[in-house]
Amino acid sequence: MSNKNIINVSLANPRGFCAGVDRAIQIVRLALKKFGPPIYVRHEVVHNKYVIDELKNEGAVFVEEIEEIPRGSHVIFSAHGVSKLIKKKAKKYNLIPIDATCPLVTKVHTEVNQMYDKDYHIVLIGHAGHPEVEGTMGQIEQNSPNASMHLVQTIDDVNKLNISADKKISYVSQTTLSFDDTKNIIDSLKVKFPNIMGPKTSDICYATQNRQDVIKKLVLDHDLIIVVGSPNSSNSNRLVDIALQKGVDAFLIDDMKKFNPDCLKNKKKIGISAGASAPEILVQNLIKKIKEHSEVKLIELDGVKEKVIFKLPRF
Ligand code: SF4
Repeated sequence: MSNKNIINVSLANPRGFCAGVDRAIQIVRLALKKFGPPIYVRHEVVHNKYVIDELKNEGAVFVEEIEEIPRGSHVIFSAHGVSKLIKKKAKKYNLIPIDATCPLVTKVHTEVNQMYDKDYHIVLIGHAGHPEVEGTMGQIEQNSPNASMHLVQTIDDVNKLNISADKKISYVSQTTLSFDDTKNIIDSLKVKFPNIMGPKTSDICYATQNRQDVIKKLVLDHDLIIVVGSPNSSNSNRLVDIALQKGVDAFLIDDMKKFNPDCLKNKKKIGISAGASAPEILVQNLIKKIKEHSEVKLIELDGVKEKVIFKLPRF
């Protein structure tokens, strides 16, 4: 008889790839097939090391700056979207753009542009330095007395906003934030600016929302949550945050070589999820790792069936 401890492992559903990530990866592979390597991609097309390493092996070249790309090449814009300045630079360098921006990020860009054209002061709720935030902030090239763009990350930032409450004001948000944290910031914006306008539907995307909803259920009766995802994946980090905020142990992992079996000590019920950019193979590798140290009773949980599919661009 095995003397390994027995652990119940619940697999979250939905987990892993969303429609925007799936589309972005397909776009890189299609471009490689059609034009041959190298295909240049500005920024990691999706935030997952395993996916990026695979695409590099297939001939994709990831760069941060447009200036690094030989003139006349194809360039793919990542799922996080880009600023107008990046698009202009690509044109200046005679690059042929292929846009892998997730359509749900494009929706936010459209909201920003429409509001700016109607002379709104726009508040973006998001994390400074994230490429999606840079792309969305970069939809507005110049602030004017009538229309401007402001980033807030916390309620404290809202308190510091220097916009007169009698101006036209609206807000949008990054697509991959914590729904609850964002709601608190929106509530404080509404107190400070009673006339503020918001998007018709939340900018937080369906995939982020669904994965967060499952974690909120898992924390009720699991004593550890492991999220498969890379450190730079915003939506994956938010899943860990939610579990920690509820007082349940949680961590992020994308390299199973770094798996530390000590995390299993005294744990009876573990929940596993994966961020929207994490491939299923990493989840399966994690389960194998846990099985090396414990006897695993695996349960695939029921959940919302995601049917969203985004059309591929023509190129
Ligand atoms: S997480 Fe949401 S916004 Fe980001 S690529 Fe996926 S569907 Fe699009």
